[in-house]
Amino acid sequence: MKDCLFCRMVAGEIVPDRVYEDDEILAFRDINPQAPLHVLVIPKRHIDTTNDLVDDDAGRVGRLILIARKIAVTEGVDEVGYRLVINCNAGAGQSVFHLHVHLLAGRRLSWPPG
Ligand code: 5GP
Ligand code: ZN
Repeated sequence: MKDCLFCRMVAGEIVPDRVYEDDEILAFRDINPQAPLHVLVIPKRHIDTTNDLVDDDAGRVGRLILIARKIAVTEGVDEVGYRLVINCNAGAGQSVFHLHVHLLAGRRLSWPPG
């Protein structure tokens, strides 16, 4: 998608602070971190929101979670705890319409979220 910020990162037009990359997935540090660790894990293929997921995406979405989990281990937050968040649409706070998982850790995360 030409005008999508995260697609531009995938294409190498914008270079994020990358923490992980493979053929299908890219992960990078959030530019405006909401916790000491704040990483975004995205599929390289453009998907607007979770509303656009189809059955064929099951593996892709599963791998996003598994990569987030691996990054949590690499960053040393798996034992103390972390939160994975996917915002869907503006009412839930989504501002970039390319599916992404937020990995948040490094501070006390309250519940329920705001
Ligand atoms: P959303 O609000 O859509 O759930 O999350 C989008 C996230 O993308 C926000 O946490 C925001 O800080 C992050 N973000 C927006 N623009 C950039 C950017 O240019 N670089 C990086 N690394 N993160 C960005
Ligand atoms: Zn995109």
